[in-house]
Amino acid sequence: MKPIAEILGKTSLDRGDLIRVLEADEGECGPLLARAAVVKRSGVGGRVYLRGLIEYSNICSKDCLYCGIRSGNAAASRYEMTEEETLAAARLALERRFGSIVIQAGERDDAQFVARMERILRRIRALGGGALHVTLSLGEQSPDTYRRWLDAGAHRYLLRIEASSPDLYRKLHPEDARHSQASRLEALGALREAGYQVGTGVMIGAPFQTAADLADDLLFFRDLDVDMIGMGPYIEHPDTPLYTHALELLPPRKRLELSLRMVALLRVMMPDINIAATTAMQAIDPEGRERAIRAGANVVMPNLTPARYRHDYLLYENKPCLDQEPEESVELLEARIRESGGSIAYGEWGDSGRFLARKS
Ligand code: SAH
Ligand code: SF4
Repeated sequence: MKPIAEILGKTSLDRGDLIRVLEADEGECGPLLARAAVVKRSGVGGRVYLRGLIEYSNICSKDCLYCGIRSGNAAASRYEMTEEETLAAARLALERRFGSIVIQAGERDDAQFVARMERILRRIRALGGGALHVTLSLGEQSPDTYRRWLDAGAHRYLLRIEASSPDLYRKLHPEDARHSQASRLEALGALREAGYQVGTGVMIGAPFQTAADLADDLLFFRDLDVDMIGMGPYIEHPDTPLYTHALELLPPRKRLELSLRMVALLRVMMPDINIAATTAMQAIDPEGRERAIRAGANVVMPNLTPARYRHDYLLYENKPCLDQEPEESVELLEARIRESGGSIAYGEWGDSGRFLARKS
């Protein structure tokens, strides 16, 4: 078998190379982390950008088999933040000089929701005179809705493909027209067309997933020429259909290791994109996000959701920091990033270098 260092010396990694690295023993992976650190420094620099995460609502019309807030979960107690609460969270991001926020929620495409989000976006833009950049993560919408939200002030959109393999996608979702991989791909195209910085991603260590699937996911990101990626470990939720497969999964720590390896590989493959250190990494290891930063990530999303809603935005079990008020979480995070040798880029939008290069 080829040593990892020799594989990383190639100008372009192929599917076989990626599978080899993903399946390597932990002891073999030192050269991968070292290479990712070098590529990261020249591709995006040493600074970490903050996105204040606002978990706007757990009301969802879809039924993804892995997700704790799927519409079929009658045990979830549903909420939607008010406009004022959402504006207050955005104001907190401004005060903290985050430069950017992410508004995430279950998927809804009714006219009332689309119009309310449009209004919120306009108010956020007015609030900071455009000082805050906004990422949306609100699922599949029509090209018209994507355009309206962009016109109202959104800049980036995160829509994970979840699995680039059609076969795996089918196993993770109900088999109906509302959960088709083809429409998700179409939505990614519509976002690019509209002019967003486009982000996607996958869950790592999901039931039925193989190293070859993950290698194909990395190649999919490269072929799509994405601007940003958010990916993290799959974590089971007891009130979901896929929970019956919980015993077949890799142990959580291995899922985190695999996620860090995916981050490092992707950084080597795509030097100038934004890669997030995701909350699910922190759910497995309190140091998970800091480890992701060392592996190649350059974006962290401190949670700005009011504490009283956090217990209800449970995509998976053991979600961290449920009882912290937004202010506390942020202080903890700042200290941790400093400790792990990173520095925070306060007050900066942190647009994807890949996106800016494509535009120029
Ligand atoms: N409804 C939107 C955004 C909210 S869900 C959407 O689906 O795009 C955001 C992400 O949470 C999903 O893309 C999925 O990758 C992740 N997620 C859902 N359930 C999860 C689980 N059990 N473990 C890890 N990540 C999960
Ligand atoms: Fe809804 Fe997103 Fe969860 Fe799917 S992953 S059920 S679309 S919130």
